[in-house]
Amino acid sequence: MINVEINYDKIQKSVNEYGSYILSCIKNQYGNSLTQEQLENINNLLNTQFIIIEKPSNEDIEFFSKQAGIDDPKKYSISYVPSAHGGRTKGDNKIHIYPYTESFNDCKTNDEIIKSCVDSIIVHEIFHYFIRPNLSNTNDTLKAQFGHFLTEGLVQYYTEEFAKKYRLGDPKANYGKNVEFAKKLISSFPNGMSQSQIDKIIFTSNQDELLEISKSGKSLYAEYISDLQFQENLASFIVDIGTEIGIDKDNDRTKRFISYYKKISDLDIIFDELSRSIELIFQDNAELKDSYMKKLRSLISDEKLEKEMPKYEEQINKLRRNGMSLEEIKSTVETNYKLENSNNIEDEKGKSL
Ligand SMILES: [Zn+2]
Repeated sequence: MINVEINYDKIQKSVNEYGSYILSCIKNQYGNSLTQEQLENINNLLNTQFIIIEKPSNEDIEFFSKQAGIDDPKKYSISYVPSAHGGRTKGDNKIHIYPYTESFNDCKTNDEIIKSCVDSIIVHEIFHYFIRPNLSNTNDTLKAQFGHFLTEGLVQYYTEEFAKKYRLGDPKANYGKNVEFAKKLISSFPNGMSQSQIDKIIFTSNQDELLEISKSGKSLYAEYISDLQFQENLASFIVDIGTEIGIDKDNDRTKRFISYYKKISDLDIIFDELSRSIELIFQDNAELKDSYMKKLRSLISDEKLEKEMPKYEEQINKLRRNGMSLEEIKSTVETNYKLENSNNIEDEKGKSL
């Protein structure tokens, strides 16, 4: 828990001054790409207290716990309150920052809290005003998840570019994967677009339109969905191990473990780390250890194969033209893949046995 007598008024005054400065920079730099409505929004926000610094109320704790899927009031916890959120969460068009939360634990003074807001929160939250591709009325949960994923990627990408240009330091966020995705999406926009045309598209399009505009939109979306499937498989694998040793699936540590691995995209790192954990957890039970190692190995190699698939597209199309069935194609490609990668797999086995 943070160990500072938090001066909410002082912090709020200071970050709002900074926020107004950022808004006026955005107005200057992107004026041509913003809609009339967005420009009016900036004018309305300028020189008002549009950033609220506050201690989470009991209603906040309930609200964010419920959002995290916690229904039991006994399990409501301040740990579900984010360090900050934008103007749509509470529907009041204001940014809210909660310096009371865990991510401020290292701050020793009010000035350090202000610095932390300035360095890694405010610019990002401000870009949320202008970049809102997630469709609000979708019953399709995958689509809703994707919209959220894409929004954070674009917002953080614009934040980083903006921070570079205005020398605002290096804004930190746990959105590496999202930013990678946003960059790939934008880099396959049709050739010959000016930066301000691109900005206008980012500031005004929804997620469907963005996928449509980008030449790789379809395949990027397919990649996202397959990644999500892998994350789900990995999460249930972790829950299985937990259950094996008597840890509840709703346990905080299990949840943190799962969300940690959601943010890692390097499959070799996931494999190395998890196999070390398995070694440790089952050091006295060779049978369980081997069984979980086997499952982990197949989970990772299936995902590697899935990721390599686009490389085999030409080969697949040829086999299809030759009248091969889908099953036959799959097994042919798998065999070829295994032949090409047999050395690596042997290495992996050697390492873990
Ligand atoms: Zn965000």
